[in-house]
Amino acid sequence: MLNIVLFGPPGAGKGTQAAKLLEKFNLVHLSTGDIFRSNIKDATELGILAKSYMDKGQLVPDALTIDMLQSEADKHPHANGYIFDGFPRTHPQAQALDDFLATKNTGITMMLALEVNEEELKNRLTERAKVSGRSDDADPKIIQKRIEVYNAETMPVKSYYQAQNKYKGVNGVGSVDVIFSALCTEISK
Ligand code: AMP
Repeated sequence: MLNIVLFGPPGAGKGTQAAKLLEKFNLVHLSTGDIFRSNIKDATELGILAKSYMDKGQLVPDALTIDMLQSEADKHPHANGYIFDGFPRTHPQAQALDDFLATKNTGITMMLALEVNEEELKNRLTERAKVSGRSDDADPKIIQKRIEVYNAETMPVKSYYQAQNKYKGVNGVGSVDVIFSALCTEISK
C-alpha cells in the first residue's frame, strides 16, 4: 500500500495537491477537516461538537478525531492506499495512526510536507475566505490562532516521522503543477 501523510500548515495547499495525488495513484482521500465539515453540514452530534472547536481555530480533541478517522478508513477496506490530509495533527494522533495501520499489516510510507512561509499562508487564507465559505478563514484572528496551534501542536509531528526516516519536504510556493511534480518525484524516489 502507498500511505501518505500530506502535511503542512493551514493554506499550504494540501487539499489541492491531495486531489491530484489521489487521482494519479488511485488512493483514498481522508481529510479530517472535510469530514468534520460534512458532519457540521448534516448537523450530526460530532459536527456540532467539532464546530465549537473549529470556530475558535482550536483542534478537535484527539479521541474524537482518531475514532472518526478510523471509522472512515474502515469504509474502504480494499484501498490501494490512503492520503491522510490534515491528520495526524498531534503526536498522539500519529501514534494512534501507526497502531491502527499495524492492525492492517501496513504503515505510513512517507510524510510529504508542503513548506510555505507564514506571510504567504495568511495571504492565501484571506483569498480563500472569499470563495470557501469557511468561517474559520474569514477572521484574521482565527487564522492567526490556527497558525499558532499548528506551530505549537502540529509541528512536533514532523519530528515523529523524521525519526522514522519518512519525512520529505517540498517547496509549497509556486505553481500547482510544479509543486505536484516535485511531490511525485519524492514519491518515486
Ligand atoms: P482543515 O480543513 O484541515 O484546515 O481543518 C479545519 C479545522 O478542523 C481545524 O482548524 C481543526 O479545528 C479541525 N481539525 C481538522 N483535522 C483535525 C485533526 N487531525 N485534529 C484535530 N482537529 C482537526
